[in-house]
Amino acid sequence: MTSTMEWIRRTYDVPARHGMRIEYDGKPATIIGAGGGYLRFRIDGEKRRTVGHPCYRIVYPAVPEPARPRGWCKHCGKDRAMTRDGVMGNHRWNGRDWSEPCPGSGQPPWKPVRNQTHPGEQRTAAAS
Ligand SMILES: [Zn+2]
Repeated sequence: MTSTMEWIRRTYDVPARHGMRIEYDGKPATIIGAGGGYLRFRIDGEKRRTVGHPCYRIVYPAVPEPARPRGWCKHCGKDRAMTRDGVMGNHRWNGRDWSEPCPGSGQPPWKPVRNQTHPGEQRTAAAS
């Protein structure tokens, strides 16, 4: 089963993870969970959690580029390393048998894994 946090990473091209420090509306906050496509986080100094859209007023930390580029596998939908030729590296998948290589191995990714720090802002910049 796919976690909502993974779904958020794949859908919005952001590096969201449990426990990650982010900035919400200019205030430091910590991601504490995800559900229904939304992020749950706690703003520093506040007792209540806040629920927000992954692209709304959130700034993610800059994540260093991995040594090997990563892609979202077209077949299994997982974040996996890519080869130098730009195709998905060999990886297992949770099909009938964990020992089977994923049919997406060696195929182009559905899309590259991206770690945008502020997708809302970037979307506006791209549209103008
Ligand atoms: Zn795969």
